[in-house]
Amino acid sequence: MFKTAITLITATLLLQSCFSQSTTNKKEKSMEDKKMNNPVYSTTDSSKVNLKEDEWKKILSPEVFHIARQKGTERPYTSKFEGFKETGTYYCAACGNPLFKSDAKFESGCGWPSFYEPISKGAIIYTPDNTYGMSRTETQCGRCKAHLGHVFNDGPPPTGLRFCINGVVLDFEKAKDAEKKYNEEHK
Ligand SMILES: [Zn+2]
Repeated sequence: MFKTAITLITATLLLQSCFSQSTTNKKEKSMEDKKMNNPVYSTTDSSKVNLKEDEWKKILSPEVFHIARQKGTERPYTSKFEGFKETGTYYCAACGNPLFKSDAKFESGCGWPSFYEPISKGAIIYTPDNTYGMSRTETQCGRCKAHLGHVFNDGPPPTGLRFCINGVVLDFEKAKDAEKKYNEEHK
């Protein structure tokens, strides 16, 4: 009995140390917990993800699957991220790839969360999209090719770009306090 308890405690401690290595704070841990069903989800692993559609269907929620894999569009003004102003990072909801920083978010009034630049060059893939009689540029996740939205040339400086993104395919993590302080001091 006693031995079992010790083993359990050791196992718990080991698990906790695994978690704290891959995650940096409690919030992030809860986000990864939600993705227990999704073996490819990682905010740190940048290796490409290439799954078949039926495999995606098993690990994504129906809402995320519809937008990410079937190039759906959420109804405008329905995303909680549309007027969202917290400081932090936005990740791909299908695979966890970091996509945007809140610094690059702006209010475009178009009804979808909007950003003027991605977090890094390889974060996003750009593909010509000529559907619906329009000539647009589709944006996809650079890691898993999830459909995110489109990018337009009517954004604010410094890039002049407007990344118009479906909030359904975004996960958000609040910046750590230290990082927040650093950002404020270096404005
Ligand atoms: Zn992705």
